[in-house]
Amino acid sequence: MPRPGRGQGMGRGGGFRDPQQGMLGGRLRGHGHRLTGPRRVILSVLESARDYLSAEEVYMAVYADNPGVGIATVYRTLQMLAEIGIAERVDTGDGKARYKLGPVEDQRRRVVLVCTNCSRSTPITTGTDDTEAVIAQLERMTAEQHGFRTNRTVVQLYGLCEQCEKQYGG
Ligand SMILES: [Zn+2]
Repeated sequence: MPRPGRGQGMGRGGGFRDPQQGMLGGRLRGHGHRLTGPRRVILSVLESARDYLSAEEVYMAVYADNPGVGIATVYRTLQMLAEIGIAERVDTGDGKARYKLGPVEDQRRRVVLVCTNCSRSTPITTGTDDTEAVIAQLERMTAEQHGFRTNRTVVQLYGLCEQCEKQYGG
């Protein structure tokens, strides 16, 4: 009997004019969430952002055109998007989480450098260097020692970015 390939069987979207939002809508439905108006607006803010955004920054961008969307909705939506892997969340050490829309399925292994001075978060592209191998080794180790099967790994390194290091570093 033929077995379905990996990743099949989830909601595939469809019915949306915007293919990107249709894809995201499908992924939301696959996790039992609906693509409501506020969620659609928040997703489009994240889509047009190049960098990580704090909840406050998302709220400000949403508020400009949609003053009816409250900040609590923004917080909840960002948390939900991070939980189901549509957005990537990093903690910048100043007590504020920052979010970025990420094709997390395509970037199962990520390394993010977080500057504790300017809060800049820089994702490192894995897969082309030794980073991938190091993370794979860590995942093997936790499987052997803790019986833990890793689906997704995000490594965050805290310190000073190049600019801040030049400015403040010894
Ligand atoms: Zn910095």
